[in-house]
Amino acid sequence: MASQSFSDLGLSEEILKAMEDMGWSEPTPVQVAAIPVGLKGTDLIAQAQTGTGKTGTFGSIILSRVPAGGNVPGAIVLTPTRELAIQVAEELSTDRLAKYTGHRCIAIYGGTSYEKQISELEKGTDIVAGTPGRVLDLIDRGYLNLAGIKVIVMDESDRMLDMGFIEDVEEIFKCCPKERQMMMFSATMPEDIRMLSNDYMVKPKEINVSRDVVVLDNIEQFYIAVGRRNKSWALSRILDLDKPKALIFCQTIKMVDMLEERLKEYGYKAEAIHGDMPQKKRERVIGDFREGKVDLLIATDVAARGLDIDDVDYVINYDMPEELETYIHRVGRTGRAGRKGTAASFVTAQEEYLIKEFEVRTGMVIAKRDVPDNEEGAKDTIRKVVDYDQLSNAFGMCRFEISLGKADGVGKVKLADYIMKAGRIIDAAIGKIELGEESSVVEVHKDFGNKMLKDVPKMTFRGKKVSVKVLERE
Ligand code: AMP
Repeated sequence: MASQSFSDLGLSEEILKAMEDMGWSEPTPVQVAAIPVGLKGTDLIAQAQTGTGKTGTFGSIILSRVPAGGNVPGAIVLTPTRELAIQVAEELSTDRLAKYTGHRCIAIYGGTSYEKQISELEKGTDIVAGTPGRVLDLIDRGYLNLAGIKVIVMDESDRMLDMGFIEDVEEIFKCCPKERQMMMFSATMPEDIRMLSNDYMVKPKEINVSRDVVVLDNIEQFYIAVGRRNKSWALSRILDLDKPKALIFCQTIKMVDMLEERLKEYGYKAEAIHGDMPQKKRERVIGDFREGKVDLLIATDVAARGLDIDDVDYVINYDMPEELETYIHRVGRTGRAGRKGTAASFVTAQEEYLIKEFEVRTGMVIAKRDVPDNEEGAKDTIRKVVDYDQLSNAFGMCRFEISLGKADGVGKVKLADYIMKAGRIIDAAIGKIELGEESSVVEVHKDFGNKMLKDVPKMTFRGKKVSVKVLERE
């Protein structure tokens, strides 16, 4: 496909100039496909994820179709989260896309006081970016008037519906004039979005740019096979070696808190964000990360939704997500605005199938890497421990090498007896034994791993010192 330039898309000089100031040299695929359609006032449904340039898409359409300096807003962008509302408002601010058109855009979201938002509304705005609950609230209180709306945008529509905003959203639509343009952006296209579009849109044009194109292009992706107990060790290696500005994802709020505590304990500058934190604190933490006061931000998916920070070097999936969409969404937080990014996923033995699945479904390559080596002579900040879960097979058996063999006059039975006695290990916990000349390999259940590794060598065999080491999984 011949690359298109922004000036082919029908945008005004003011918008083109703002884009140039922002360092955008050419439009992304979704911008190429959607901007000319949107400029005509046509309704549209675009399948596009964060990182594809969707905000620039609907933003430039709004700035083109809604006059600046009106009394009541001419466009409303609905978002599932406050962070996203704030980011949309920032992207459409007079520092960014509206630099030369002078449109005013404000963010409206819950979990914070009304006064500031009300006073901003009273001063007048051209565009509102907001979460459905608070938007509706301010309409009900009489501060927000949608009678002048010409353009409605639903951003991250799938998440909006997932979060149960459908009724609020429909209520808001009813407060807008019948004659208006509606655009829906969504990473996925579930049935309920199609139904919503049938009810509220007029012959919408569907735009489906092949996913991943922009998001993952300049991102190096790899994974490290590491057990749960050694993830913090692997993380410390990466952090010590690359000293990145990194966004670290965990699966649960509890895990986020635990990791924050652990990293701080070892002297890393890390902060956590998740949905259980007061809004004020979340904003402060995100601000500190944006400004570089903290290097490491640990987050849940919900808290990191829509997080738009251009200079994140690394995204680390401390816990591997099970959904491809989530993976793409997380990884797309790096490699933004033309920069290079790295995405590292920590994958336990039980999760490796996910990597294969994601590779097959997208055609991308996620290479396997070892935990990086330390710099010459450097000590680990967080030490490696033995992780029996990671080392054991599907039956929970780990393999150990013990320094006894035929040369010591033992057979399989004698060796098993010795291990049971020396380590106080039960019969049933001992599996296959491969007898060697000088040493042998013995399977022991992971629950007895520590006894095998620590207790067995405390005894001597006919006066001979015995050593045991745990082997990697076969
Ligand atoms: P979004 O998909 O709206 O979250 O945008 C992702 C990032 O790409 C944001 O940092 C935008 O500022 C940036 N961006 C959007 N369009 C372009 C473009 N045409 N060229 C370069 N960067 C862009």
